[in-house]
Amino acid sequence: MKYVLLRDDDTNALCPTACLERLYRPFLDRGLPVNLATIPCVNTKACLPDGRREGFLPVQQSGLPSHLPLAANPELMSYLATNPRYHLLHHGYAHDYLEFDSAQPADIARRLDAGIASFEAAGLRPPATFVAPYDQISRPAYRELARRFRVISTGWFEFRRLPARWWGRYAIKKITGCRHWRAGSLRLLSHPGCLLSHHRPVEGMLERVKNAIAAGPLTVLVTHWWEYFAGGQPNEAFIAVLHQLADYLASTPDVRVLSFGAIETATPAEAPGLPRLFDL
Ligand SMILES: [Zn+2]
Repeated sequence: MKYVLLRDDDTNALCPTACLERLYRPFLDRGLPVNLATIPCVNTKACLPDGRREGFLPVQQSGLPSHLPLAANPELMSYLATNPRYHLLHHGYAHDYLEFDSAQPADIARRLDAGIASFEAAGLRPPATFVAPYDQISRPAYRELARRFRVISTGWFEFRRLPARWWGRYAIKKITGCRHWRAGSLRLLSHPGCLLSHHRPVEGMLERVKNAIAAGPLTVLVTHWWEYFAGGQPNEAFIAVLHQLADYLASTPDVRVLSFGAIETATPAEAPGLPRLFDL
């Protein structure tokens, strides 16, 4: 059995509900879970290091407050609540550049606790999985995350950033070549890069995704909803690949699509062999 986790990043209070519906209706209708890494209190002026506005922000905006919590978009909250196949992950706080690469534990703790409060204020259960913007997590951040979450999903791990007490298990992970591992009760998942990206050619994209799924027992597929609508227009060819993926995932007998809830649960009923993948 091959397990797949589909992770879409950057849902936030300014995310148009129609975009998620366009992309994921074929998944939801087939009973396939979709994991949305959701920004608790988006910085409406968030920029990349080169000064460009983040792609998940609207092209046109004026008069917005500097930050918007999830509760500011009741339509989106209602949509998420009425489609239980969506599973929410906690993605940063404001999505400031490298906000979880900080060396200040108090700043990290403040952002995490305010983020959890934002989910609660929007009527949502706070997520048990954390995703850092830009995959950047400092050592103090790992310590604070371990106190609050059951799962971290990120691109890769760096020895020098990990708490010293995790080094032994990390060394075993490196030696054995495992993608995913465990430190105490915290499960840590890596992913093979953003294969579903508008920076990559559409030709052959589905095959590359299938190959990644075939290469290991559990694969995290990362994508970003706003890349399918860059420039304000739907990228039909890119959307078609995503929907072909839904067909493939639903029709392939030895592939099972999971929500991160199955990873967060110690003994997931829907995937009983899964915990072994984290025990090196
Ligand atoms: Zn992000």
